[in-house]
Amino acid sequence: MRKLVSLLASFAFGAGLMVAPVLAQDKGSVGISMPTKSSTRWISDGESMVKEFTALGYGTDLQFAEDDIPNQLAQIENMVTKGAKVLVIAAIDGTTLSDILAKAHESGAKVFAYDRLIRGSGNVDYYATFDNFKVGVLQADSLVAGLKERFPGVKPWNVELFGGSPDDNNAFFFYDGAMSVLKPMIDAGEIAIGSGQTGMEKVGTLRWDGAVAQARMDNLLSANYTDKKVHGVLSPYDGLSRGIISSLKGVGYAPGPEMPIVTGQDAEVPSVKAMIAGEQYSTVFKDTRELAAVTAKMVDAVMQGKEPEVNDTKTYDNGVKVVPSNLLVPHSVGKDDIQKLLVDSGYIKADDLK
Ligand code: BGC
Repeated sequence: MRKLVSLLASFAFGAGLMVAPVLAQDKGSVGISMPTKSSTRWISDGESMVKEFTALGYGTDLQFAEDDIPNQLAQIENMVTKGAKVLVIAAIDGTTLSDILAKAHESGAKVFAYDRLIRGSGNVDYYATFDNFKVGVLQADSLVAGLKERFPGVKPWNVELFGGSPDDNNAFFFYDGAMSVLKPMIDAGEIAIGSGQTGMEKVGTLRWDGAVAQARMDNLLSANYTDKKVHGVLSPYDGLSRGIISSLKGVGYAPGPEMPIVTGQDAEVPSVKAMIAGEQYSTVFKDTRELAAVTAKMVDAVMQGKEPEVNDTKTYDNGVKVVPSNLLVPHSVGKDDIQKLLVDSGYIKADDLK
């Protein structure tokens, strides 16, 4: 049947009856809007979704917005105009999409928030993500494990905190998850925040920008650590960790017994290499292949008029509604877990780590 459709389509196209080629759109087209290609995780998310949706018989329109909000809005607008049946969106700024989503719903399209919650809109149908609070807990747990291992007997440990982008709902979940572990230790005097800077309004990093994190770390070091050592840095994302590590190296820290414990997220290749080199202590692996597969399954269920699988109907209040969510499990990765979790699972090729 599909062959016949595509044969007819190519005949019609050849005869000048159509203006655009027909893809494998038996079930309609899915618009996939990803925030940026500057971080490999989103490239992998996008590619995996195209694969999953194609296998289920959907056409796809995958766009990356290079962290530019008007660009993402224009791309989504274009998807709606072209008649997308479904939008899967990882928002750059989770609060800027209300108008276009209203338009999408008017046209009958379903809207899925992907990884990042879309805030302030009633026109978000479902949300697929990882347990974001847990991500923060894992980061703080590994920071504390690293501090105990590398700096036993030190009290207090001098730590600095970094948060993600304040326009990304996830950043608050990561921070709150981490603080659920660290705050009691700060209160008990086991951890000291050398700069005194806590709270997302002080430690947030706009657009998850590594250069911004590096500049802030430079300032923290020169203002607070000329006469003492920093033992650990809570970093919520590998791209920030790389900036933080550059800053630390700039003032003389090097792999070894005095290297501060730096956390991360996303298991990006350069950062996994930094873990092997002893610069970064840990990362959090979220299998984007799994998230893509789960999202495609949810979309397919909804398109068939069925209830998609969700496992959380309480946590993700976007300010207008609680968005039914499917939360996947994040994994903490230390140096010893790289082979099993990242290489054996096929997420990273062994050769890429050489
Ligand atoms: C994602 C993280 C990612 C960060 C920066 C967050 O919304 O959940 O996996 O590290 O954005 O891209």
